Amino acid sequence: MIPRLAIAIVSLLLTISFPVFAGTEYVFSCKKCDLHGRYGMGGGFFFDEVSTYCTNKDHFVSISWNRGAWFIPRPVRKDDGIPIYKCPQCKTPTAKKWPIELDPKRCPRCRSTNIITKETGLQYD
Ligand SMILES: [Zn+2]
Ligand SMILES: [Zn+2]
Repeated sequence: MIPRLAIAIVSLLLTISFPVFAGTEYVFSCKKCDLHGRYGMGGGFFFDEVSTYCTNKDHFVSISWNRGAWFIPRPVRKDDGIPIYKCPQCKTPTAKKWPIELDPKRCPRCRSTNIITKETGLQYD
């Protein structure tokens, strides 16, 4: 007979494996300032990521790294408590974390709440 605890552990492992760790891609558009872009959320099974909005070129940039890597990107500074990273494309410290957990419903450029975010249906790992 299999002990009840073992069954509980196995079913717990099954529920947390997929697709919780998969990243989801979203499209963003702001009706006020016409900013468009795509951003990912969540990270994958083998990597983790931070989505940012880079003010240097007005683009969304994902900063990702392997799970368990010794190197994890750290913000270069904070602006009003929001972490700012070095943009991997522009190499300038202008990539601001977005969406921020506290206030995810505002456009990162004009701060308008008149935005649309939609899942593209794409999941990646
Ligand atoms: Zn906007
Ligand atoms: Zn950039």
